[in-house]
Amino acid sequence: MPDKNEIVSGSDFRMSYQTFYKRIGQLANSLKTKGIIENMRVGVMDWDTHRYLECFFAIPMMGATLQTINVRLSAAQVLYTINHGGPDVIIVHEDFMPLVEEIKSNFNRDITLIPIGNGEGYEDWISESSSTYDFSDFDENKTATLFYTTGTTGNPKGVSYSHRQLVLHTLGLVAGFSTYSGDVGLHRDDVYMPLTPLFHVHGWGFPYAATMLGVHQVYPGRYTPETILQLISNEGVTFSHCVPTIMSMILDGPNCSQTDLSKWKVIIGGAALPSSLQECAKSEGISLHAAYGMSETCPFLSVADLHSDDPKVQAQSGFAGPLVDLRVVSPDMEDVPHDGESTGEVVVRAPWLTKGYLKNAEASDALWAGGYLHTGDVGFLRQDGSLQITDRLKDVIKTGGEWISSLSLENIASSSCNHIEAVAAIGRPDEKWGERPVLVVQVSPESDQKEVQKNIIDEFQSCLEKGEISKWAIPNDIIFVEKIPKTSVGKINKKVVREDFLKNLDLKS
Ligand code: AMP
Repeated sequence: MPDKNEIVSGSDFRMSYQTFYKRIGQLANSLKTKGIIENMRVGVMDWDTHRYLECFFAIPMMGATLQTINVRLSAAQVLYTINHGGPDVIIVHEDFMPLVEEIKSNFNRDITLIPIGNGEGYEDWISESSSTYDFSDFDENKTATLFYTTGTTGNPKGVSYSHRQLVLHTLGLVAGFSTYSGDVGLHRDDVYMPLTPLFHVHGWGFPYAATMLGVHQVYPGRYTPETILQLISNEGVTFSHCVPTIMSMILDGPNCSQTDLSKWKVIIGGAALPSSLQECAKSEGISLHAAYGMSETCPFLSVADLHSDDPKVQAQSGFAGPLVDLRVVSPDMEDVPHDGESTGEVVVRAPWLTKGYLKNAEASDALWAGGYLHTGDVGFLRQDGSLQITDRLKDVIKTGGEWISSLSLENIASSSCNHIEAVAAIGRPDEKWGERPVLVVQVSPESDQKEVQKNIIDEFQSCLEKGEISKWAIPNDIIFVEKIPKTSVGKINKKVVREDFLKNLDLKS
């Protein structure tokens, strides 16, 4: 265990909180020399490091906006988020330079790139600057951060947060996770390591909470099971958060059973907590609890009872956090009974929810219809007030914590040949990835299924090569059916397609 709380990054960088504060000033001055002033935007493409944490503070505190660029999107989507978000400069780790080189001729504005090599370039760059920076005061409603979430349409949507929202969310997280008695939740004497990429909703906001609490923090860089397990062991990590896929990856890591994980508390979000994962984690002594939220909600909405060691309770989407007004409603916004079985859409209000999508009034209005933020998730409330997410209204597939638009997969398949009469992309439950995309295809009676299948596969391959989709968007299976179920107005009935498909799966297993 460390004897004083520091900020550690990988195996060879550590600093005190005093040094951290000085380096924030140095980064701000270095950005100023690159022409960054209030209201400008700074993009970041880096692994989860101390540098990223410094950007979390320096950039918004200058009055500029931090755009955390999701480096896991396809090249075309990364380009879209850059052109739409409009950063003035982008700080780029060398591992993402090939991607930037591929797309930069299509940038729609002049962007100054700040290549930082594998980090030494960043150190050289900021070391020249003074650590004294006069951070001025400004309106708390100024935009602090911006990132993109991929949704039902092909294009990612810009989600932003103000200083006020980030501060209130941080206080909400601390109230929701740090006021438990005993060794549960996140406390000053914990050792914290994020395992949700920092480009994903500010690493779910925990880096801000951990810094506010002054805990010992460990940044893992690029996620590999070996590095993560080594850091857990060397630094005595006790608190993390991640999507189920990352937890599975760690549990499957070669050194997992040799590492003492008995003091590790992990919050699982971004998807339901599967019981198989719970069992496996429990056998290593890890304590898992579910939490629920989304990109548009900063993300914290609810968390399972952290005191409970009953696996069923630990996997519940849990109780609404402080200051969160969470309802489960019918389509006409009436509350459904809190009886543990009546389902409806989860709608919420809280002081930290995004006000809408950047330059997308239509989607913003839909998000906030009726004065509540619509999560697009279906669930029920129990009598004790705990929430359970059971389904999704939004037509998207989530694989390994990343969204894939089912519409864009359907478009690719349809454009592959003329024999496709209808196609539906759905998510098939998957132990490792949460969901994997599967195409359900209806072809004209005279067509050759093998040929259609080949055309579809070739079309996906070509989109992958052109950087239009990421490799995890390629469907695992193509299933041919006689007729795809439609609704009364002739739209594909995804709910029925999913149900039929899952029923068939059950029959097969
Ligand atoms: P994202 O915007 O990528 O953070 O994804 C948020 C979405 O992930 C939510 O709207 C849910 O569909 C899903 N999700 C998050 N947490 C949970 C949970 N505890 N149980 C089930 N689904 C979840």
